[in-house]
Amino acid sequence: MFHVTAKLDKSTPIRIGITPGNVFTHCCRSGEEVPVNLAAVLQNKHFTPGRFYAGTTLEDGSTVQIPITDRNVRNFCIACGKEIEVDLSDFEGDEDFDVYTDEVLCDECAEELEEDDDDE
Ligand SMILES: [Zn+2]
Repeated sequence: MFHVTAKLDKSTPIRIGITPGNVFTHCCRSGEEVPVNLAAVLQNKHFTPGRFYAGTTLEDGSTVQIPITDRNVRNFCIACGKEIEVDLSDFEGDEDFDVYTDEVLCDECAEELEEDDDDE
């Protein structure tokens, strides 16, 4: 799962998963929160870093909203578990990409996989 990271205070960075239920934007007229299907936004090349938010409710009941930018989205490599930075703009217009379900490989693991392919 892709997630955004942010530091609420100096010590506690939090992660908010990018899931179908928690991505939204603000209506440009009323400022109201509007749910967004980020997968469709990316496929239609309408992704603007910082315009969409991932939100969550904390244990104390307060809510946090983090803008999804081109610098704060991360995912874990499915092979080694390393956290890697992802720029969602790279996937704009990619019909095979689903931001809610796709998994990623870090550069090293992708390279290793390629080498394995060459052996066959
Ligand atoms: Zn890896």
